[in-house]
Amino acid sequence: MISSDEAIRLEDQYGAHNYHPLPVVLAKGKGVHVWDPEGNQYYDFLSAYSAVNQGHAHPAINKALIEQAETLSLTSRAFYNNVLGDYEKYITEYFGFDKVLPMNTGAEGVETAIKICRKWAYEKKGIPEEKAVILVAENNFHGRTTTIISFSNDPDAKKNFGPYTPGFRKVRYNDLNDLQKALQEENVAGFLVEPIQGEAGVVVPDNNYISKAAELCREAGVLFIADEIQTGIGRTGSILAVCGNCTCEIKCERQNTYTKPDMLILGKALSGGVYPVSAVLADKEVMDVIKPGQHGSTYGGNPLACKVAMAALNVIYDENLPQNARKLGMLFREEMQQLVDSHELFVKVRGKGLLNAVIINDTEDSDTAWRFCVALKDNGLLAKPTHGNIIRFAPPLVISEEQLLDCISIIRKTLEEFRK
Ligand SMILES: *Cc1c(COP(=O)(O)O)cnc(C)c1O
Repeated sequence: MISSDEAIRLEDQYGAHNYHPLPVVLAKGKGVHVWDPEGNQYYDFLSAYSAVNQGHAHPAINKALIEQAETLSLTSRAFYNNVLGDYEKYITEYFGFDKVLPMNTGAEGVETAIKICRKWAYEKKGIPEEKAVILVAENNFHGRTTTIISFSNDPDAKKNFGPYTPGFRKVRYNDLNDLQKALQEENVAGFLVEPIQGEAGVVVPDNNYISKAAELCREAGVLFIADEIQTGIGRTGSILAVCGNCTCEIKCERQNTYTKPDMLILGKALSGGVYPVSAVLADKEVMDVIKPGQHGSTYGGNPLACKVAMAALNVIYDENLPQNARKLGMLFREEMQQLVDSHELFVKVRGKGLLNAVIINDTEDSDTAWRFCVALKDNGLLAKPTHGNIIRFAPPLVISEEQLLDCISIIRKTLEEFRK
């Protein structure tokens, strides 16, 4: 096996420099742990941006992958396959929608939702052609395609990638007045929003923001589109972040804290990190605007993806991962709050379930959070800064209380040793 130094040198020389990774090379993963080529063990506190909610190398998901790979992996949608329909029934019942459109990556899911929303606007709402406007939130993150970065306000994501796709208008996140004003403008077709802004630094809106925003959209005849690619599939302590504070069983009669989006976008943990699988869910009135030939993807809905996604969703349900995320998330924030109260370096902890962040006492352009993450790595825990001075902590949801307490002592020890 090549060494860490060699692996880093190769990536540096032959790969595009579109990422700035922490200097650690991963060679193996199991559950909440990953190992480098030299055999050092780490807790994974990023979970591939919440794709690995079910833990690394989950046996049930890998079994589904291997069995289906040996049977049939890809047919394209030129033909029917004997797994897709079963998956479509499974996932629509699981999340309570009439229909699903299967894609691969998260960004493709978002692109799909944008296309459906626009088509719905012209054909059902009667907006004049080419005039549809989709509202988005400031500081959003929805992916990296040309259309999606057109409505980003992160200069790194956007600058020199123009000309940009028109038809989007930003509103302030967590500001119902701003949304209400924007909804009164002409030709608004949809509102695309993250229930918690992950990449922006785990920004949790007010308790009623999502439900009220959906209500305002409904009153205005505008589609409410939830991007749950990062927040969904158990991460925030319920199966979806739009479930609010409901802790009920997954296949539930939704309780009154649940806000049903007109479109729901899923990705990342939909496959438990073994294969790119994304999906857009909606009811018939919306989804049926898409007709043959109008949208698709060669790999979308392939039998391998379908089997993997069913296994990954089963694990969430079987192992009560939303409940575990909720319980251990509260413990984590309590413990981090003690560190905030007793150490200058930690300014604030926030989050929901096991999607949390700590704000570091320094400016956004400082390297303090980066150096703290390197120190955490040296002590056996992997996390990464987002937006300079914010560190996201998001372990796989299969983490046990004992393991979490071990991680908290690593964070405490690192904090006590750290010199800014
Ligand atoms: C990661 C992410 C995406 C993009 O997913 P990719 O699979 O990287 O294209 C979109 N929206 C949110 C909220 C995300 O966290």
